[in-house]
Amino acid sequence: MSEENSDGSETYAILCGECRKGVESRDAEDGQVEYGCSDCNNWDTREEVLRISKEYTTEQAQLNLNKHMKQIASRSKGMTFSGSTTSDKKFRFVVDSPF
Ligand SMILES: [Zn+2]
Repeated sequence: MSEENSDGSETYAILCGECRKGVESRDAEDGQVEYGCSDCNNWDTREEVLRISKEYTTEQAQLNLNKHMKQIASRSKGMTFSGSTTSDKKFRFVVDSPF
């Protein structure tokens, strides 16, 4: 689930970190719009949802890079690489990215 923007970059859907359903929006009591998941009652402001999903993307990119480094190091004699390739950190919002 992704779409191509006119500038060539791609937009990925933001999903609920609990059940991986696409986030929806709702009108909050104070007149603001909240984004999140009604199934999990997981709601937050647009800024917060974007911040959390960006944090998720950054972490996934780092883990992905570490995996590559580990592969390269394992093929090279005498080279070792240490860095985490998995994370059990929980994110309330994630991105439907190709990692
Ligand atoms: Zn959910």
